[in-house]
Amino acid sequence: MKTAIATVTLSGSLPDKLQAAADAGFDAVEIFENDLIQFSGTPRDVRQIADDLGLHILALQPFRDLEANPGPIREEKIYYVQRKFEMMHELGTSRMLCCSNVSPLCINDPKRAAADLNHIAELAAKEGFTVGYEALAWGRHTADYEDAWNIVKLADHPALGINLDTFHMFSRGNTLECLRDEIANDKIALVQIADAPLLQMHDFLQYSRHFRCFPGQGDLPVVEFMQVLKDKGFDDYISHEIFNDEFRASSAKERAVDGMRSMIWLEEQLQPQESQEAKPEVTDYEFIEFAIEGKEGDKLIMMLEALGFTENYRHVSKDVGLMQMNDINLVLNRERESSAHQHYKRHGASVCALAFTTNDANASLKRADRYRMRRFSNQAGPGELNIPAIKGIGDSLVYLVERSKKFRFFDIDFEQIEGVETADLGLKRVDHVAQSVSNTEFLSASFFYKSVLDFNIDPAQDLPDIYGLVTSRVASSPNGNVRLPINMTEARQASPQRFIQRSQGSGVQQIAFACEDIFKMAAQIGEQNILPIPENYYRDIEARFQLPAEQIEKLKAANILFDRNDDGEFFHCYTREVRGVFFEVVQRVGNYQGYGEPNAHIRFAAQAYLNEWNALLTL
Ligand code: MG
Repeated sequence: MKTAIATVTLSGSLPDKLQAAADAGFDAVEIFENDLIQFSGTPRDVRQIADDLGLHILALQPFRDLEANPGPIREEKIYYVQRKFEMMHELGTSRMLCCSNVSPLCINDPKRAAADLNHIAELAAKEGFTVGYEALAWGRHTADYEDAWNIVKLADHPALGINLDTFHMFSRGNTLECLRDEIANDKIALVQIADAPLLQMHDFLQYSRHFRCFPGQGDLPVVEFMQVLKDKGFDDYISHEIFNDEFRASSAKERAVDGMRSMIWLEEQLQPQESQEAKPEVTDYEFIEFAIEGKEGDKLIMMLEALGFTENYRHVSKDVGLMQMNDINLVLNRERESSAHQHYKRHGASVCALAFTTNDANASLKRADRYRMRRFSNQAGPGELNIPAIKGIGDSLVYLVERSKKFRFFDIDFEQIEGVETADLGLKRVDHVAQSVSNTEFLSASFFYKSVLDFNIDPAQDLPDIYGLVTSRVASSPNGNVRLPINMTEARQASPQRFIQRSQGSGVQQIAFACEDIFKMAAQIGEQNILPIPENYYRDIEARFQLPAEQIEKLKAANILFDRNDDGEFFHCYTREVRGVFFEVVQRVGNYQGYGEPNAHIRFAAQAYLNEWNALLTL
């Protein structure tokens, strides 16, 4: 696949955008005209920079409101186009893209539009250029690609083709029939591929400007579109053209890599099933690693001890401990010469790594390499396991561990601490791990799990914090054992932002453990550590679920939240926060698969009230 990216997709100066596109491995760029006009050098300088980076300049775009104008404007547009042709020569590009007219003055006459485009194509052909005509979803009289195609057919000029932009097509509900049945490959001037979440938005301009994302990050049928092109034998460039506020506010380098990851994912989706290599599968959590130092590290350990954990293993050569209970392994890293220490210095006491079990570690790593993930290796002593890692969310690492039938990681690298009992105090396994990320990292984070680790991504949900809206998506492993809610908010005081400010970046904010007796667990955690839940909540659930008075009293006394749906019941309680990090204990009954989402607003409010109360106490 020949890959391109429009410079409008990335942030920063034009040279920075070109550098980021080249570093990420794109073959070509579309130059967004504003980027060129704002640049202090000449179009020839841009061409030189692109040449030096090995980037082809695919197109100059967009040209607006060129067709079906009333008399005098028509002449002005021809003059304008001819001046821009000069810039295209200097840039060394041969494709110009024009978007359907949005002006209220535009005449509703396809023949007139076709005649104008024929004239522009004739002028372009004399320069050795081609013209692509694109239906903007909010075009005045041409908004569907089928209508743009009719005008291209009417114009009937060899230098004129249709520009296909998946956002415009799918936001309006266009189908692929016309592309499949009518449009020949040599009449496709350019393919721009963009995704978006499925929204019922009728202001297409706002939808396009603020919600576009890379293919695979949204819900539009971009794979079906690519399959139609593949079936037709189309082999020209595929270009990302993504208007997105968050992309424009974040690192050009990181977003360009996300864009390339999206291209790799698209290509993978088009592989026939039979020729695909078996995908490695993440099957479980192996361990969760904390960078644990200082007073806050001690507080985190005290909270874990309140949950029933004991440091019962010690690393054979490093200052690293392990808390193990049933299927839960919490690594406590205090080693000064380690990536954990670097994480501690930047973020304080925190989760610095997640380790997942995979059925084939080598294949998982090969896949991570293919998706251009950065690899890390730890410093293993003689005879110790060297567990490979890739970069995860924020500055954290993701370890990929293949579980041997004969031994577990702690059998090799750790020894049991003498005299410390490994007691079963009720927690059975990690239920889910929630990560809070900045708004600029939200799409990237969920796409990392979807592409590199082949996780399923649930549609986004909005959860109300008392200080703003929190958006949440859950990434889960194919077998459902690993579940990772990813949370984001734009509100400064809402829970995920408070965490990000405290810990100086995105990371794990919450770990939920599964138990079989939530009342016993709540008693063990104790009133001083548990998150207090307001009494009104229990009157509400009594009214909603008609629970017996005795059960309501039990839930209230233990600060346990409750939910029920057709699949089963869900009991859960929370610890108080330590530097924004907190723990949850859950008991699932029946086949309940959710996370107690109807109670999320209660948890957010309870945390916010407690924070304010604590702030008052420290005045
Ligand atoms: Mg476009």
